[in-house]
Amino acid sequence: MADYKVLLFYCFTPLSDPEALRLWQRDLCESLGLGGRIILSKDGINATVGGELRNVKKYWRKTKEYEPFSQVDFKWSDGTGPEDFPGLRVRVREELVGFGAPGEIAVDEHGVVGGGSPLTPEALHELVATKDVTFFDARNSWEAQIGRFSEAVVPTVRTSHDFVKELENGKYDHLKDEPVVTYCTGGVRCEILSAMMITRGFREVYQLAGGIVRYGETFGDQGLWEGALSVFDNRKAVTFSPEAAVIGRCFRCDSASSRLENCTHLECRRQLVVCDGCAVADVPLCDAHPSGAQSAAGVSASRSIPEG
Ligand SMILES: [Zn+2]
Ligand SMILES: [Zn+2]
Repeated sequence: MADYKVLLFYCFTPLSDPEALRLWQRDLCESLGLGGRIILSKDGINATVGGELRNVKKYWRKTKEYEPFSQVDFKWSDGTGPEDFPGLRVRVREELVGFGAPGEIAVDEHGVVGGGSPLTPEALHELVATKDVTFFDARNSWEAQIGRFSEAVVPTVRTSHDFVKELENGKYDHLKDEPVVTYCTGGVRCEILSAMMITRGFREVYQLAGGIVRYGETFGDQGLWEGALSVFDNRKAVTFSPEAAVIGRCFRCDSASSRLENCTHLECRRQLVVCDGCAVADVPLCDAHPSGAQSAAGVSASRSIPEG
């Protein structure tokens, strides 16, 4: 049986013609039978692609031949099969991640200007040993339901669009003079969020370079990470070892679970923690869409909001 891999990467760099790169990336992925989603903007690229190992390798070699992407930190993980990515979407957007704040960041050939200080997983542990740091989750709050750094602050954000409001409502002003470490899946959201925090008066902001993915490769479940990592493909969530803690709670019966399912209401993008028993017994509907509301079980699998 073929070996399936998933490749996750991003790069902040000025791109003069993102539309030309879109066509190149689309044709490259199509020719190799890869699925996934790639977002390009004038500020760079943000991508997750998956497919057979030999094809993902070819894609990786071609992509880093392009000079602006030559120094990109590519993250590999195991796929399960063609069902990880049922389709391919390659788009040009105003923002690489939808914070609803284009113009918030400036990008030069070294990346985002004025972002948080990057920390390797090892440097993070050194910092934690010497300072009383606060972890700040840069993801959507539903992702943190099944996994997060120990004692992390999890902002109330349904999507990245909610961050500006969340940072400006005073809730986190007490952290403005404290060391804060932002983290997200692969690092792309922290690049933007950490810069947004510094602009709003947070004085000592760090970001976990390479995100939870790189941290998990380094320390697995033997460090400060707890639980499962939510991912934006049909794998839904991954763990770093069989010893991973299960910190999620089924929204219906409160038993431990790391399983995420979309609310089956057609218009709803909420992700709910559901245990296997309740998932079999009933289609999940969030409290905003209780049973009896219009539901469409089975069509919701690919509605996850693409991010990184
Ligand atoms: Zn349950
Ligand atoms: Zn719902």
